[in-house]
Amino acid sequence: MDQESATGITWDLTDLYAGPDDPRIDQDLDAALTAAQRFGRTYRGKVHTAAQPSPTLVADAVATMESILERVGRACAYADLVHAADVTPPAHGALVARTQERASLVRQEMLFFELEWLALDDDTAQRIVDDPQCHTYRHFLRRLRRYRPHVLSEPEEKIIEEKANTGGRAFARLFDEVTSSLVFEVDVAGTPQRLNESGVLALLYDRRRAVRRTAADALTRGLQANELLLGFVFNTLVHDHAVDDRLRSYRDPMDARHLANEIGAATVQALIHACEARHDLVQRYYRLKGRLLGIAPLADYDRYAPLDAEMPVISWERCREIVLAAYGAFAPRMREIAAEFFDRRWIDAQVRTGKRGGAFSSSTVPSAHPYVLVNYTGQLNDVTTVAHELGHGVHQYLSRPQGYLQADTPLTMAETASVFGEMLVFEYLLGSVDDPAARLRLLCNKIEDTIATVFRQITLTRFEQQLHHARRTRGELSREDICTLWREANAALYGDAVTLTDGYRWWWAYIPHFVHTPFYCYAYGFGELLVLALYEMYRRAGAAFVPQYLDLLAAGGSDTPENLLRRIGIDVTDPGFWELGLAPFSTMVNEAERLAMR
Ligand SMILES: [Zn+2]
Repeated sequence: MDQESATGITWDLTDLYAGPDDPRIDQDLDAALTAAQRFGRTYRGKVHTAAQPSPTLVADAVATMESILERVGRACAYADLVHAADVTPPAHGALVARTQERASLVRQEMLFFELEWLALDDDTAQRIVDDPQCHTYRHFLRRLRRYRPHVLSEPEEKIIEEKANTGGRAFARLFDEVTSSLVFEVDVAGTPQRLNESGVLALLYDRRRAVRRTAADALTRGLQANELLLGFVFNTLVHDHAVDDRLRSYRDPMDARHLANEIGAATVQALIHACEARHDLVQRYYRLKGRLLGIAPLADYDRYAPLDAEMPVISWERCREIVLAAYGAFAPRMREIAAEFFDRRWIDAQVRTGKRGGAFSSSTVPSAHPYVLVNYTGQLNDVTTVAHELGHGVHQYLSRPQGYLQADTPLTMAETASVFGEMLVFEYLLGSVDDPAARLRLLCNKIEDTIATVFRQITLTRFEQQLHHARRTRGELSREDICTLWREANAALYGDAVTLTDGYRWWWAYIPHFVHTPFYCYAYGFGELLVLALYEMYRRAGAAFVPQYLDLLAAGGSDTPENLLRRIGIDVTDPGFWELGLAPFSTMVNEAERLAMR
C-alpha cells in the first residue's frame, strides 16, 4: 500500500481556534459556565409552575440554552479534532478531558430545564409546542416529551444511574476488556501467529482458502475458551434490559431503541419482513461468488474472500476528481460544497502515526463548518470512504441553519447522505468502465457491501429479538441455547448457498453491539435500503428529484424521519416502500450473473 498517496493533505482547524493553546478556548468554556449559571438563576422553577409558563419564556430559555451549548460545543469539537489528528501529545488528551469536564458541568447546570419541561402536563406542553413563538424549537421540545412515560422519579433515576456502574455497565466493560485481550493462535501458511480479534478477522479476507479456514477455527477456539464468561455476560445483560424495560414501561425489547431512533415499530417490522422475503437474492449472489472462486458451496469463512485482482493505487488528486465528478453529475450544488472541503482544507487524509484510525465527519457547530478525517491509502475502498464521509459533510453543512439542537439526525437518517454519496461514486465508476470483468468486480463489491449493511444487520436483529424473547419467556439461557438461536437466524439468511461450519454457531459471542447498544443494527439496514430507494426515485424522476433531496438534507433533524420523508413523497410505514429499495439490489444481482456468464 502506498502510504504516501495523500502526503500533505491535512486540515486547517483555524476556523475554530488558532491552536490548542489559543486563550479563546478557555474564554469560551468559562463564559459558557457563567452563562449556564445565569440560566439557572433566570429559569429554575419558572417552567414547571402553577401559573404555567408562557411560550415566550420557553422559547427564550431554549434559545439561550442552545447558544450556551454551542459555545461549549465548539471547544469540545475542536479538542476532539486536535486529538484525532495526533493522539500522542499529552496536551491533546488533557484538552479533551478539560473540555469534556467543563461541558458536563454546563449541562448539569441546565438539566433542570428538561426535568421541568417533562413535569408539565400534556395539555400545557401541547399548547406551548403549538404556539408560533416556539415554532423553531418544536421538534426539540416534542422529542424530549416522548420520554415522559418512561422517566422515573429523580431519586429513582439517581439510584439507577449510580448502580449501573457496578451493574450493566460493569458487565459491558468486562466484555470489552476480555474480548480486546483475547489472543488467537493461528497458523498462517506454516507460520504460527498470535493475533488479536481484528487481526484474526482480517485473515477472513485472505486470498488463500486454507488461511481463511484456519483463522475461522482460531476465532471459534478463542471464543469457546471463554464461553462461560461470554455466555454469562450475555445472559446478564439481556436480563438487565428486561428489568429496565419493566421499570420504564417499555413493552417490547426494541421499543426504547425505536424511541431514540424516532421511528415506529411497524416501520421497522416492515423493513425486517421485506428483507427476509428476499433472502433468495443473497443466496443467488453467494452461489455466483462460489462459481467465480471455484468453490461450491461456499463455507462461512469464504464469504469475504477477495474476487478482484490487485488494483492500481488511486492518487489523492484522482480521488478528488472522481468524487467531485460523481457529485457534480447529480447536482452542481453538491459538487460546490464538496469542493469547498478539498479547497479550504477541511479534510485530513494523510496516513501518519499518532493519527486516529478509520474515518469520520465531525459536524462541529453550526456557526463553523464540518471537518472530515480519513486515512487515505489509495485503494478503491478509500475513494468510497471519501465519498461516504463527504456525504456526511454535505449533510451537516446544509443542515446548519437548523441550529445546534436540531441539525443532527437520529441514527435512522444519519447515514442517508453518506451512503447516497457512495452510490453516486459507484454509479460514476460503473459508467466509466466498459471491460466486463472490471464491471463485474465493481458490482460484486457493491453487492457485498449491501449484503453486509442490509441483510446481515437484519439477521443480527432477528437473532437479538429471539434472544431477548427467549430470555423473557424461558429464563436463563444455556450457551447451547444461544448458539442454536444464532445458527437458526443465519441459516435462514444463507440457505444452502453457504455451508455454516459447526464452529460458526459461537460467532455471536464477540459482537459488541449486542452488549453495548441492543437493537442498534437495524438502523444500518434502514439507512442503506432507504438510500437504494432514494436512488431509484432519482433514476425515475431525474433532475426533478435533486431539489427534494437537497431539501431533505437541509432539514437535518428538525422533524422525525417519517415526517421528513413524507415531505418528499415517501411513506416508510408502507410495507411496499421497502420493495423500492430492494428492486435495484435485485437488478445488481441479475447484472452480476449476466456478466459472469460471458
Ligand atoms: Zn457514516
